[in-house]
Amino acid sequence: MSDNARELLILGVEAAKANSVDEARHYLEWVLNTDADIEQEADAWYWLSRIAPDHVEKRSCLESALAANPRYPEARRDLAILDGRLAPDQMPDLRYPVQPLVPSSHLEASDLLMYKCPRCGATMSANSIRGGLKCNFCGYTPGEPGGPHAGAQSVLQQAGEQDWTSTIFARKGHRWEVPVSRTFTCDSCGATVMVPAGQSSTQCPFCATPHIVHTGEEQRDLIEPTGVLPFALSASDAFARIVRWLQDAQFVPEGLSKLATQSVPRPVYLPVWTYDIEGDVRWSGYTYQTEFGRSKKVRVGGSAPLLFDDVLVPGTKSVEAVLLDQLKFETNNLLPFSPDMLASWPTEIYSISAADASVLARERALRQPSTTAQLETSLLTTGTAHETVIETTDFSIISYKLALLPVWIGAYTFEGETYQVVVNGSSGEVAGNVPRNKFQQLLNDFLG
Ligand SMILES: [Zn+2]
Ligand SMILES: [Zn+2]
Repeated sequence: MSDNARELLILGVEAAKANSVDEARHYLEWVLNTDADIEQEADAWYWLSRIAPDHVEKRSCLESALAANPRYPEARRDLAILDGRLAPDQMPDLRYPVQPLVPSSHLEASDLLMYKCPRCGATMSANSIRGGLKCNFCGYTPGEPGGPHAGAQSVLQQAGEQDWTSTIFARKGHRWEVPVSRTFTCDSCGATVMVPAGQSSTQCPFCATPHIVHTGEEQRDLIEPTGVLPFALSASDAFARIVRWLQDAQFVPEGLSKLATQSVPRPVYLPVWTYDIEGDVRWSGYTYQTEFGRSKKVRVGGSAPLLFDDVLVPGTKSVEAVLLDQLKFETNNLLPFSPDMLASWPTEIYSISAADASVLARERALRQPSTTAQLETSLLTTGTAHETVIETTDFSIISYKLALLPVWIGAYTFEGETYQVVVNGSSGEVAGNVPRNKFQQLLNDFLG
């Protein structure tokens, strides 16, 4: 770091904060003409953007700041405001923590979408194979000519990545909804129906009409799902997969599959945050060099750029993150979200904010097997290093999605303990917790 540049930068920033534009410009431009390092250069450009007389110059300064340091959060934020991606009135008051939304316990008819066939009055369900809706009785699909919703979901469309800057600097990035059970009057049969806490869809238990809570997330400072991976597995398919999985489980007590009692799995669209992350890991270690016939320990170090696609963090506590990873969801194949896709499937509402989940995502990224692989590649280029340690990490989120993933949540009981088993409702992949046999238990205790 250049000390000369540092002093000039301090003077320039102070002048900019005091709104002494000419003085600030004098020092900040001087910083750019010294031996400033890349961080100082980014700071100088950023503060020049703060005193820029017009939008054109402001944009050019911000772009220069980001060219020097692509992760500069304030520069990204100000550029998002300039582009109209982030409105200042959407930004939280930093003096107070952002409060979660506490929904009203009664839902009005206007808060709900009801799925009844316009042709015969029977209930309609999301057609998971073709997309769109289908009448459970007469087979009518609204996509057909004359239907109220023209055009069913095209399978070729994909749900895109969302802009992180305009989310993390807005209230919606920090907010979540407190799980509250809510009631409404079924418009089809007049019964009072309850939507369980933490859910956004239900079926009337009296007339089976599917209802979806649809209150407009953006207006409530919450995030609307980006995409949905439709259910392709029925309850009996899911049950059969669990049975086979228990039979094939290894290192488990004898007779597990015969003695375990299974409960019927329940379907849920699970809200899951997915993050694309880029980062740098600085590492150091030792290598041995031979000098005058003697081996000498030499300190080496470097940095490795890392990239992660779709790091998953569950938005609720229904399924453990470790199990979720094992289900291997194809999160690049999400269909763009539409509430119709949830008709007749229970859907959970996220209770972990995008901001909180992003912290977990950075930790999870570091522990991914691909991180080790990427690090090893980087270490290979510098020869063999010993006792390598990670010194610092600098991870930033590039983009994110809020995915609704289809999961059959099951459980089985063995010797008085209950274990969770989950099935990927799209591919049939199974993951679950198992009791360990005595030998495995001893081995685990020994290894700590
Ligand atoms: Zn019908
Ligand atoms: Zn009803």
